[in-house]
Amino acid sequence: CGIVGFIGHGNVQEVLVNGLEKLEYRGYDSAGIYVAEEKGKGHLFKEVGRIAALKEIVDFELPATVGVGHTRWATHGAASQQNAHPHQSSSTRFSLVHNGVIENYQQLQAEYLSDVVLRSETDTEIVVALIEHFSKTEDLSTKDAFKRTLEVIEGSYALGLVDVENPTVLYAAKNKSPLLIGRGEGFNVIASDAMATIDVTSEYVEIKDKELITLTQDAVIIENFAGETVERSSYVAEIDA
Ligand code: GLU
Repeated sequence: CGIVGFIGHGNVQEVLVNGLEKLEYRGYDSAGIYVAEEKGKGHLFKEVGRIAALKEIVDFELPATVGVGHTRWATHGAASQQNAHPHQSSSTRFSLVHNGVIENYQQLQAEYLSDVVLRSETDTEIVVALIEHFSKTEDLSTKDAFKRTLEVIEGSYALGLVDVENPTVLYAAKNKSPLLIGRGEGFNVIASDAMATIDVTSEYVEIKDKELITLTQDAVIIENFAGETVERSSYVAEIDA
């Protein structure tokens, strides 16, 4: 169970897959990436087994601007391609990677998602379905729908979210699972461990539990759930790659 996300200039698929390889020690029953090329155009690749198997099916030539990747250690549902991350909302607008366990996913499903047909057995799919649910039924922006979702889910999570309708933004949040921001020139990343992205940047910013992170290629915005912007300086990670 490891996460990588990338937004900006660079070979998105390469950064994601290389990062996942470095995170394989955290678990590897299946893996996947989602990348968006432009508004409305995204690509999902998932495979059971090691990252080497995922590498075989990824199209590294796609000119993507944003993406998220995941290596899974199953907690809810078998190690199958269907249950591998990223998970998508029914319209496929939202794609999400998740490490951790959502403890109240069954209650949330019963309360909000009784009419949604799910594709997997994971707790994670409930989170991405909720984001779409709130964005539609409460007419919220993606950021607000994500925040609304974070306010109702309980448990441990590190999350990376892409909205294919706005592929210039990458969203992230964490609670009791590790996640860091990495800053680059013309790009920004998120990762479970700095080791995953040390090849592309050594400058990292800590994320605290229950903050809402918005990344673009040039900016990183950290907000608390009250909507206040949080200033936090970066540090240089020293890892022998
Ligand atoms: N609970 C999620 C699942 O079973 C995430 C597991 C993980 O952290 O890899 O799919």
